[in-house]
Amino acid sequence: MSNSPFNRELFDQVMVPNYSPSTMIPVRGKGSRIWDQDGREHIDFAGGIAVTSVGHAHPEMLAALKEQGEKIWHLSNIMTNEPALKLAQQLTDATFAERVFFANSGAEANEAAFKLARRYALENFGPDKHEIIAFHQGFHGRTLFTVSVGGQPKYSAGFGPAIEGITHLPYNDIAALEAAVSEKTCAIVMEPLQGEGGIIAANPAFAQRARELCDQHQALLVMDEIQTGVGRLGTLYAHEQLGITPDIMTSAKGLGNGFPVAAMLTSQAIASHMGVGTHGSTYGGNPLACAIASKVLELVNQPTVLAGVNNKFERLKAGIEAINAKYHFCAEIRGRGLLIGCALTEPYQGQAGVFQVAAAEQGLMVLVAGPDVVRLAPSLLIPEADIDAGLALFEQAVAKVVSG
Ligand SMILES: *Cc1c(COP(=O)(O)O)cnc(C)c1O
Repeated sequence: MSNSPFNRELFDQVMVPNYSPSTMIPVRGKGSRIWDQDGREHIDFAGGIAVTSVGHAHPEMLAALKEQGEKIWHLSNIMTNEPALKLAQQLTDATFAERVFFANSGAEANEAAFKLARRYALENFGPDKHEIIAFHQGFHGRTLFTVSVGGQPKYSAGFGPAIEGITHLPYNDIAALEAAVSEKTCAIVMEPLQGEGGIIAANPAFAQRARELCDQHQALLVMDEIQTGVGRLGTLYAHEQLGITPDIMTSAKGLGNGFPVAAMLTSQAIASHMGVGTHGSTYGGNPLACAIASKVLELVNQPTVLAGVNNKFERLKAGIEAINAKYHFCAEIRGRGLLIGCALTEPYQGQAGVFQVAAAEQGLMVLVAGPDVVRLAPSLLIPEADIDAGLALFEQAVAKVVSG
């Protein structure tokens, strides 16, 4: 056992108890392998919750970090900086967007998106047009506005009055959406695939109807691509697979490979409503974060890498199906690219966490997406050998859970 004074017991003495982390404390990573305080090796199928898109300690990421680190880390927004301009240019070249706002986290990018949608509606159509339509099980972050738009009461309840003017509908329900959209709607906010909500993909017809309804009612379609973006689903952004273009999109998680950075992307016309002084962030768009995100985009936005994501999906899916043929734990394999959910069969409902702990005991990191879904979100560059090694550990974990 490690003798480090920085152990799990110390957590309870010095940290706010909003998390309940494992006793195992990782100290080092390389690619899709992680080592803990005891020197034990783990295979990383979690990617820090769909964040470490190019894996741990990628040599080109280290070079980018070091290069910018030696130049300049931070300026204020009184000045612009070269890495931010470069990253904004990369993002606008690669997407529908013409303008970018940088933030430090997904929630902050969404906060900016929701504020902008409201302001756009207020300035164009007056104060009545402020209602936001969002979806049950949706997740948009943990600030008060973002938990209010999110469709999970467990995150929004208990903090006093929520933000008003938000309606939640069943996801993928076209009729409910048609009935709810009105002249008061300023935005429809959705994930192209609900991540935290259980790995549930939007039907293209649903997303397309949302687009049409927004156009008919002068509302904005806001796509939260914080989990699905930056190649996670096998295209640079997931909405590309739905046959629609949003008005505002947010990106975070995989964008920084673990360094806190986020972006809100939109058109010039919409961006013009966020004039000088309307919004801001001390750290958003700082040169260090932007240099890192710039390198991530360069590494991920390549046809071979994106095609590789789809190939790795097939390999993981085949592996899970082979395990399932023996143990019948998974009713449905959901998701796309490297955001995969195993929806548990009836006897194991509510036990996703049990599978997660069993996997950890074998030296495999996996995630859950709610109580009924085991979620996998490894690095987009995970080698096939690590996929196979991880699947072997997963089989041992599943065997243990199933044998009770
Ligand atoms: C993780 C996530 C967020 C919140 O991002 P933070 O960086 O934790 O603030 C928002 N939306 C979606 C879809 C996410 O997966």
